[in-house]
Amino acid sequence: MNKHPNTPPVKQYLMLLGVFLAIVALSAASAAAELSAAHNLRIELVPAEKKLIGYDDITIQTAASKILAFRVSQNLTQVEVVVGNDQRDFELMNGRLQLNLEPHEQTAQLRIGIRYSGIFDDPVPARPLNTDNPGYGVTGTISSKGTFLLAGAGWYPELIDSRATYRVTVEAPAGLIAVTAGRSRGHITENEKTVSIWEVDYPVQGLALSAARYVVEEKSVGPVTAATYLLPQNQHLAGAYLGATAGYIALYSDLFGAYPFQKFAVVENFFPTGFGFPSYTLMGGTVLRLPFIVHTSLGHEIAHCWWGNGVYVDYATGNWSEGLTSYVADYLFKEMKSEKAARDARRQWLRNYATLVRPDEDFALARFQSRNNPVTQTIGYDKSAMVFHMIRQLVGEESFWGGLRDLYRARLYRPTSWTDLQRTFENRGQRPLQNFFDQWVYRKGAPRFSLDAVSAEHTGQGWRITGKITQDRPGYDLPLTLALETGQQTISQKISVSGRETFFELNSAAAPLRLTADPADDIFRRLAPSEIPPAVNALKSSSSVVTVLADQLDPALEKAARTLALSLGLKHNKFIAENELNRQLLVDSDILIIGRPRQADVLKNAPAAVDIRSESFTLDNSVYNQPSDAFFGVFTHPYAKNRVAALFMPLSPQYADIVAAKITHYGKYSYLAFQNGNNQAKGFWPVAASPLIYEWDRKTEDEKVRR
Ligand SMILES: [Zn+2]
Repeated sequence: MNKHPNTPPVKQYLMLLGVFLAIVALSAASAAAELSAAHNLRIELVPAEKKLIGYDDITIQTAASKILAFRVSQNLTQVEVVVGNDQRDFELMNGRLQLNLEPHEQTAQLRIGIRYSGIFDDPVPARPLNTDNPGYGVTGTISSKGTFLLAGAGWYPELIDSRATYRVTVEAPAGLIAVTAGRSRGHITENEKTVSIWEVDYPVQGLALSAARYVVEEKSVGPVTAATYLLPQNQHLAGAYLGATAGYIALYSDLFGAYPFQKFAVVENFFPTGFGFPSYTLMGGTVLRLPFIVHTSLGHEIAHCWWGNGVYVDYATGNWSEGLTSYVADYLFKEMKSEKAARDARRQWLRNYATLVRPDEDFALARFQSRNNPVTQTIGYDKSAMVFHMIRQLVGEESFWGGLRDLYRARLYRPTSWTDLQRTFENRGQRPLQNFFDQWVYRKGAPRFSLDAVSAEHTGQGWRITGKITQDRPGYDLPLTLALETGQQTISQKISVSGRETFFELNSAAAPLRLTADPADDIFRRLAPSEIPPAVNALKSSSSVVTVLADQLDPALEKAARTLALSLGLKHNKFIAENELNRQLLVDSDILIIGRPRQADVLKNAPAAVDIRSESFTLDNSVYNQPSDAFFGVFTHPYAKNRVAALFMPLSPQYADIVAAKITHYGKYSYLAFQNGNNQAKGFWPVAASPLIYEWDRKTEDEKVRR
C-alpha cells in the first residue's frame, strides 16, 4: 500500500499578491467525515537564521468538505497556496490556514501545494528546575545547537480532522541529520547539504521533528530496526540502548502483538526533555546518561508505542494510556524483579495518593488528560495503574493479557476510550464491569475502610474469628483478602465487601496471632494518617515552614540551607536562628532544622533506627562519621499533630550544597544518607499502626484457653 504520490512537485508557482484576509473567526465547519491526506513535505532548515522553508505537496480526499483548515504556526511568512495548478486565496489567522473549496472540488481528490517559511525561536532552558512539563514549554526552536519542533509548533500544515501519511524530506547544512516518525529512507550528504528522508505510512496524530549532528547506529530486531541518534559525546551509550530496545520490543510483541512501526529510535535532544513519540523517544543527554533510564523510562516509552502512540487515546473521554503504560512498564519491571518490589510499588501509589491528593483537589480518573502537577500525575498515572491492577485481579491473568491483545488488534491507530477498554475486559472476563468502572474510573475518591469488632472464640475444634469491615460513604464494592496468621500458618480468605458493614468469619485450628485485611495492597484506598510515615513531600506541600539554623552552625552551611529551601519550593518559609525558636512558632509550623540542634526535644520523635550525634550519625546500624557524609530525615512533629520536623545535617560544608539540591528528588522518602554528594541510603520509617491490622496479645488468648 503506497499512499505517497510519486509525481514530481507542482512546477509552477505564481506569486500570490499578499492576500491575507483577516476575517473574524470563521471556524472551519469541516465535514464530520474524516479527511485523508498524503503529505509530500520538503523542509529546508536554515539554523543560522532560526528558520525553515517548507513546501508541502498534499493529496487530499475531500469527503464533502466546503472548507479545508490547516493548523500552522502563527509566525509563518511568505505563504502561497496552489490548488491543482492555480494559485488560491486563503485566510491565515490565529495559527489557522483556511481555504474555501469550489463545488466541484468538494468531493474529489485534490492536489494542494503550500509554500511557506517560518522562524522558530522558543527560548530553551539550560538547566530547568521544574519537571512537570516534559518540554519545559518549548514547542519549536531551530538553532545551531539543534532543532526541536513539536507537532503543536505548526512547522508544517496539518490538515485538521484528517488521517494523514507523510513523506518528509529534510535538507540541512552538512552533518545535520533529521529524525521523525516512520521509516528512515536514509541520510545522504552531497554539495555541503545533508538530506534525510522519512516515510510515515500509518496515520499519525501530528509529527515532531528533531535535527542535530547525530551519529546513527542501528540494530535489527526481526523486521524492526532499533536505532540510536546520539551526539558524538554520548555515542558510547548506543550499545546499551540498542540492546535494551531490542529486549523491550521482543517482550511487548510477545505480550500484546507485533510492534506497530518499522523502527524504534532513541534520539538525543540538545536540552533536557523526556518525550515519547510514535516510534521514537526524545531525551536530553543528561537524561540519557542516567544509568537507570534503560531500565525504567526507555521501557515506558517503548510500551507507549502500543498504548497511546499505537492505540490512540480518545481524549474527550479521558486519557487511560499513562496508567496502562505505567502498569505494563514501570510496574511490570518491578514485578519481574520480585513480589516484594511489586508490592512496594503498589504501596507507594497509595502513599502518593494519601499525601499528594487532598480530597478537595481530587477528580475522577476519566477526567485525566495529561500531567502538569503532582495531583494530575498521581491520578493519571498511579491511581490509573492501580485500577489496571484491580482489573487484572478481578478477571484473572488470561483475560487481562488476552484482553489487551484483543484491544491492540481491534483499536490500532484508532482513538480509544475507557468504554472500549471496559468492553474488552468484559468480553474476555465474561463478567459485567459497569459497577467497577463507575466507582473507579467515573467517580472520584477512594474507599476508606477498617477492620472492626474483631474477636476470637475457642471452639471444640479450634478457633472461630469474627469481625467486620466498616467503610465510609460512598461505599465501594470490592473483593478483599483477609490473612490470618497463627503460629503455624497463614490462612487466606477472600470476602466481598459492600455497603457500610461487611461481616466475616474465619476458622483456624491454632490460636490467631494477627489478622490483616488486604495484606498485599491490592486495593486502591486512602491510607489512614497512621499508615503514612513522614516524608520529604510533607515539607514540599507544607503551608508554612520555619527553617531553623542550629546554634553554632558553620556559617558556610547557610548557603546550603537556602539552596535546600529553594529546591524544595518551600512556601511561607522563614529563616530563624535556633535561639529565636519559641514554643508558639514551633507549634504553628513544620520545622526544618539545619545542623544538630541544641534543643534535643525538637527531634524527640526520631525513631530508634537513627541516632544523631554531633560529629556522626547512625542509620540502621551503619555509622556515618566522615566530613563528606550528610543526613536528611523527616520525623513526626514533637508538639503538633499532622505536622513534621525535618533535620538536614551535613557533617561539614563539603558537598552540602550539592546534597541540598538533590533532596527534593527523593520526595517520597523519610530518610536519606549521602556520602561525597551521592545518595547512599534511603527509606521509610516503619508504619506505626494500621486500621487494617488486628493483633492478638498472646497472653490474653492463653488465658481465654484456660477459661
Ligand atoms: Zn507515559
